[in-house]
Amino acid sequence: MILILRSGATQEQIDHVIEHVEALGFAAHLSQGTHRTIVGIIGDEERLRHAPLKAIAGVADVLPVLPPYKLASREAHPQDSLVDVSGVAVGDGHLAMIAGPCSVEEPDRMDRIAEAVRASGANIFRGGAFKPRTSPYAFQGLGEDGLKILQQVGKKHAMPVVTEVTDPRNVAMVAEYADMLQIGARNMQNFVLLTEVGKSQRPVLLKRGMSATVNDLLMSAEYVLSQGNPRVILCERGVKGFDNATRNLFDVASVALVQQLSHLPIIVDPSHATGRPELIPACARAGLAAGADGVHVEVHDCPEVAKSDGPQALLPAQYDELMGQLRGVAELLNKKLPDSQLSRT
Ligand code: PEP
Ligand code: MN
Repeated sequence: MILILRSGATQEQIDHVIEHVEALGFAAHLSQGTHRTIVGIIGDEERLRHAPLKAIAGVADVLPVLPPYKLASREAHPQDSLVDVSGVAVGDGHLAMIAGPCSVEEPDRMDRIAEAVRASGANIFRGGAFKPRTSPYAFQGLGEDGLKILQQVGKKHAMPVVTEVTDPRNVAMVAEYADMLQIGARNMQNFVLLTEVGKSQRPVLLKRGMSATVNDLLMSAEYVLSQGNPRVILCERGVKGFDNATRNLFDVASVALVQQLSHLPIIVDPSHATGRPELIPACARAGLAAGADGVHVEVHDCPEVAKSDGPQALLPAQYDELMGQLRGVAELLNKKLPDSQLSRT
């Protein structure tokens, strides 16, 4: 920790700062320049993280040396993490290709969509059974019945499943059916929920909040990691922008930045980031090119009757074409994409 003192700090204040630091059990290293005095605090920074050092008279600023997300940081863990989602490796060169409808719908439709996306090379199937909706009158999801459908369809098509959990009271129940728990953008800072999924043994797909900074995202990941659950995959799904031409603002730079700051895998979700099917392929390619560890896409076989997010869904044939393009990008980057079971001409 570094303390920068005010330009007019008196000798009495400087002496007090040093006494205070030493009384806390740390060594202080004084550095006096012509205009400013700096005090370096030597010792375990974590023990001082929440101390009100800025309140000491004469202190202008407090600069931590280490990031506050010590478990999520690259310093703590220089190697890329690899997360095992029921047999599907994600991170460290392995790509998660997550696809499926926004909401879990009737079994036959789920079966058709799963079959199609699996054939195109998806390796994780998605669908929300608990939907966080802006309107209380909009479709809220099928609940536990939806979880049963999702689990059954995932098993039939040999794909692990990911689904959102919105309520700390439902974590144990959702974890019974799902291979990975999704924390949605609206709940990224629901700290009680983060603590609960941290206690569960399931991998967690943590989506960036729509107004969250990269630091906020990594601090939320820290909540999960600090509970002893190391299996966290981050997801860039766009942040609020000023231009409603796209649903959100796809922050592709955050992917590259997160990979500098953290060892955790990060995937992109161009469906929620753009809200426009015609923009999804370009943003998916850009995400992979920026270093993302996977792509999350909403797919529906009849978007005009979808229970939620129909206007942004790709048709199975469009998803198949996109997967062909992503295979090319992955090859350039020497990353592993699951094989397609469709013959492509
Ligand atoms: C979803 O995945 O369907 C969803 C609601 O996503 P987000 O939390 O990113 O809006
Ligand atoms: Mn959705």
